[in-house]
Amino acid sequence: MTTREECLSLDAEDPLASLRDRFELPAGKIYLDGNSLGVLPKATPARVAEVVRLEWGEHLIESWNTASWIELPQRVGDKIARLVGAAPGEMVAADSTSVNLFKVLSAAMTIAREDAPGKRCILSERGNFPTDLYIAEALARERGFELVLVGAAEDIGHRLAQGNVAVLMLTQVDFKSGRLHDMAAVSRAARAAGTLALWDLAHSAGALPVNLDRDGADFAVGCGYKYLNGGPGAPAFVWVHPRHAERFWQPLAGWMGHAAPFAFDPAYRPAPGIARYLCGTPALLSLAALECGVDTVLAAEPLGGMAALRAKSLALTDLFIALVQERCGSHGLECITPSEHALRGSQVSFARAEGSYAIVQALIARGVVGDFRAPDVMRFGFTPLYLRFADVWDAVEHLRDVLDSGQWRDPRFHRQAAVT
Ligand SMILES: *Cc1c(COP(=O)(O)O)cnc(C)c1O
Repeated sequence: MTTREECLSLDAEDPLASLRDRFELPAGKIYLDGNSLGVLPKATPARVAEVVRLEWGEHLIESWNTASWIELPQRVGDKIARLVGAAPGEMVAADSTSVNLFKVLSAAMTIAREDAPGKRCILSERGNFPTDLYIAEALARERGFELVLVGAAEDIGHRLAQGNVAVLMLTQVDFKSGRLHDMAAVSRAARAAGTLALWDLAHSAGALPVNLDRDGADFAVGCGYKYLNGGPGAPAFVWVHPRHAERFWQPLAGWMGHAAPFAFDPAYRPAPGIARYLCGTPALLSLAALECGVDTVLAAEPLGGMAALRAKSLALTDLFIALVQERCGSHGLECITPSEHALRGSQVSFARAEGSYAIVQALIARGVVGDFRAPDVMRFGFTPLYLRFADVWDAVEHLRDVLDSGQWRDPRFHRQAAVT
């Protein structure tokens, strides 16, 4: 049995506790949805106001040079690169995850067609985030490839070994179950099969240590508004391994990815390296907010960095799983997140035969914010930057009460909103 007092002493000993001060956390909320939309950093409003009032309002177009707006996609990309094991100059922040996926998947297909013309399959998981599957399906159809989906992570190796997979496209942490892939092992299997490995880091960047270069990834994309706290609709990021850097194809050949955008050359010439993955004019206000968000994660560097964040994240999710078992054990919650650390991201999900949506709504009404993913999953994200062990204890206490009292049966918790 863990007591609330024990949780408070864990918080008192937490070497990362000071990072919480960097966030605007609304009073009375326990926010377990940082895996969907990260919390507002305290630095963001002033920085965005400065960009609006001073850089835009006063200096206007000069700010492209004087405030280095033109370099912002690279500058923010370099900061994100530090969190995911990539080198400076290998990453840019731009567009959305969906759009970046389109670019790199298209590039991977082009490279595969040149190097291994017989391989015509894109392999992914049926449970992958739908936008990833939609983009892959559309590209496959357009380019004469086939999208092949396996039902379980365990089947990936077997399917790769059949030898006709051009690109393996996976999300490192499953958005629904929170299951974590072993990037090194899976990328190694892909390499052995002559397959390019494309990773979506939407639920891993800023949540756990990632080492793209060491672990054999070929391409990666990821999300700015989840664990990177970049704000709603923040730009995403895109990375390509330097071994493909001068080969890769950019299907969205916009002027910002041109070698010399201000030469206004009628012929397209891609910029060297990753810069060609810019397309149109960058969303400056959003990039400025994203930089503040990324800085909150980088602030952990002197305190042990991603390894320390990972240790705390696992301690938080361990505690949550144990407390739910202990206090809500009789209510038919099935933990669908692996208990093994090597297989777990930074979230915990429960499935229940009945009432998952309403239970989440009842919790939200009490200020405990998780989310629901159809058809029956309650999802709780744990951002180690700002969550405390006592928050975990209190959240489980609310869950216990919602279940014990049957409060979730109240009809007002069953009305479905547009965004769940
Ligand atoms: C959140 C998420 C996205 C989001 O894509 P957008 O284009 O930014 O809306 C994509 N893929 C995965 C795996 C995600 O979790």
